[in-house]
This record gives sequence, C-alpha cells and structure tokens, in this order.
Amino acid sequence: MDFDLNRALNVLQTDADWIGLRQVSETTTTRYVRDGHPQSNHRHQTQGIMVEVLAKGQFGYAATNRLDQESLQAATDRAYAQAVATAPWAVHSFTTAVRPRAVGQYQSPIQQPLELINVADLMQLLTQVCATLKVCEQIVKTTALAQTVETEHTFVSSNGSSVYQRFFSINTDYGVTAQDGTVIQQRTDNGMFARCYQAGAEVLDPQAVLDRAQRIGEQAIELLSAPECPTTTTTLVLAPDQMMLQIHESVGHPLELDRILGDERNYAGSSFVKLSDFGTLTYGSPLMNITFDPTVPGELATYAFDDAGVPATREYLIQEGRLLRGLGSLESQTRAGVPGVANFRATSWNRPPIDRMANLNLEPGDTPFEEIIGSIEKGIYMESNSSWSIDDYRNKFQFGCEYARRIEDGQLTQTLRNPNYRGITNQFWGNLVQVGDRSTLGMYGTPYCGKGEPNQCIRVGHAAPVCAFTDIEVFGGHG
Ligand SMILES: [Zn+2]
Repeated sequence: MDFDLNRALNVLQTDADWIGLRQVSETTTTRYVRDGHPQSNHRHQTQGIMVEVLAKGQFGYAATNRLDQESLQAATDRAYAQAVATAPWAVHSFTTAVRPRAVGQYQSPIQQPLELINVADLMQLLTQVCATLKVCEQIVKTTALAQTVETEHTFVSSNGSSVYQRFFSINTDYGVTAQDGTVIQQRTDNGMFARCYQAGAEVLDPQAVLDRAQRIGEQAIELLSAPECPTTTTTLVLAPDQMMLQIHESVGHPLELDRILGDERNYAGSSFVKLSDFGTLTYGSPLMNITFDPTVPGELATYAFDDAGVPATREYLIQEGRLLRGLGSLESQTRAGVPGVANFRATSWNRPPIDRMANLNLEPGDTPFEEIIGSIEKGIYMESNSSWSIDDYRNKFQFGCEYARRIEDGQLTQTLRNPNYRGITNQFWGNLVQVGDRSTLGMYGTPYCGKGEPNQCIRVGHAAPVCAFTDIEVFGGHG
C-alpha cells in the first residue's frame, strides 16, 4: 500500500475529539469447476479507507475508495457531520476510552505463499477432483472450488495507534449430487460450509485432496441405498463439521451483545440471553467450555487487534457450563455493563465495525472417539450440515446433516440418509455428556457469517471435538 496514512492523518483538518483511518486492500481469486468444465476463473480487488471520528460522544463514519488527501478530507467532513447530527438522539455517549492506543503487527502463518499457486496447475487439480468425485454413473453433478483471499489492514489514529495486519486465507469446497431414480443425495467436503483456513498453498496437497474427493463420491453412492434416519429420541454424536454450525448458531449469535442490546432486532434478530444472565446462567453441562480465541494459528478469524484497537486475547465465554462473558466490543461492554472480548470487526473498508464472532471454539475433553462410540448402546452419529433453521431468539432449532451412521452396542453400523435433529438451546447443551479428546478435534471456518445493515458477510472460525448428547429428537426426511 503506497498511500502514507500517517502523513494523511497529520494533514487532515477536523474539530473531532478523535479520528481513526482504516485502510483495507483485498484481493480474492475464485476458481470453480463443474463436471470437469471451468465455470469461474477470476480475480477481484477492492481497496479504500474508512474514516471514523468521535465528536459530541458519537462516532461518525464515511469511506472513500479514492486515495488522495482531498477525498479523505471530504470523507472526514462527512463523518464529522454525521456524528454531530446523531448526538441529540444518542443511546450512549462515548469517550476515547473505547478506542485505546494500539501498536503492532500480524501476519497469517503460511508455509507456501499463495502467489506460488500456478493457475493452470490449480485448474488441472480441480478438474481431476471432479473426475475423482465421479466414482460411477450415479454421480450426476460434481463441483470443485478453490478461493484465495489476501487482505491488508492498516489502522492509524489521532491517539497514536498504528496497526498493520496482513491476512492470507484459502477455502476449498468439493461436492457431488448422486441420483438413483427419485432418490437424490448430496455429499460434500464439509456440508454447507467450505473448509477455510488462514493458510497458503499447502492446503492444496493433491494426494490429500483427491483422497477426500474419492471418499465423498463413495459416500454419496452409499447414501443412495441407505434407509432413512428413523424418528426417535436417542443419543446423538456429532462430528466437528456439524458441531461447527451448532456452536455458531446456538452459542455464537445469541451471545452477541449488540443483538442482546437490540441493535440487530430488525435484521439478524435478537437473543434469548439477557444481560442479567452473564455470570449466572447455566448454558450447558459442566463439560461445555467455549472460548473466544482469535489467537489460534491457522484458524480463519485469527488476528492481533480488533478494529477498535483492542489486543486479541483468548477468553472463556462459557466455562464448565456457566455463562461468563458476551461477544461484545468495548462499545457494547460500555453500554451493557457486562464483560466482552476483542471482537469489533468490519468486513471491509466501506463498513463500520460491529460485534462479531471470531474463532469460537469448543475446548476438547478427554474421551477418545472409540470410547465415545463404545459407550453407546443405541444412538446415531451425524456429519456435515445440509440445512438449518433457528428462531430469532436462537432458542429452538432444527438441523439437517448429509451423512449418518447407526450406533449399536458400541459400534458404528448401518449408514442412514437424510438425518435431522432438533432441540432447544439450553436443554440441548445441558445434555452434552461426552466431549472428545484433542485427537477428535476438527478446525473449520466459513466466510459467510452475515449480519448488520448494510450487510456485512464476515469470516469466522470454529474448532470442536466430537461430542455426544443424550435424549435428542432425531428424524428423517429433507429437514
Ligand atoms: Zn452467522
């Protein structure tokens, strides 16, 4: 980034009490192959600067994609006018305490730089993935996607902040549709959500990718002749790639302080959690330990500072089943009077930061996979999300998965198709009876967490072990 933000900041004229400049530059490449034919092969770039000012206790925002002093001054004037105009209707009056001075750097850990990826080789690999997915004629559709994102963030402020963060991420998704008469089944590499990591080209190890593609194709065929998941109440074992969505929807969203404060009621919804619940509510069983952890190397939403300049630290949101803190930035913490985390994030240069999940993880327990399955007389094991539905208060939910197996007398047996389960958030987490050890841990992420008006679609990471829940309603069909 050639534009000198510090120099620009020093020259800006404003009566604001505080000013911050956040420059973001992002390059995304998308390579997508369907049935062996290239569908997309493009590169997208965006860059600009968000000006944030504090005046009369209010924040004002204005952005520009023209990197010159005149445009930046015009944005500063607009941001200032906005802050002053909103002051008479303020819900809270802020001070610079919610924009601490931050100085530091961060770069995603990568083994092989993304620029080493040769486009022709990558398209060749994705074409091979499609060929490998098609294990027989009953596979009627194959898809292979690889997307890379490089993002540079620079933040400077009038109270001396200077932060530079550089992110590299890569996500892949491989999937098939299999058909036998009227029976249609989908199987993918990770359900509705791609595998997303802060990583480099090492993620595209051809042998590992093709091995997974082979298994996806074979399991789709297996599902075509499998019986429907029965309707019953039983012990449910969830793989990490479904735990991911379970954590995201029934722990992450309801704990966002801005939702609880009502900011998101129009659009993303509210929460069953009340401010008085922090420190007292039993959210789940004593085996439930949820951390907000933007410090895990390679997980998708790892960073050193959030967009308010707060250093990223690992914090327990739920410890031994008890709710301790919310997903709330310094601004939300100040308004709500409850502890929060460094989670103030904007999706790009043209959006203000809001309360987001980052990496939200379920900490591993000490039970190996074989021991979890071995201890269950009757149950069902499910993998990979295929559908989800949860109410505005994040209380009652119903999720569908791609793939299931029966558990009988401590063994994984028959494959089942169209598995679903439903529950009520607190009851469900209260029934968490076994948490897998570190060897069962899976790390995933999604670039598709949506929230905010105008919409902000942001990257989040989730890691979880295999988990078992008792007395869960399961059923078959397309849920
Ligand atoms: Zn979300």
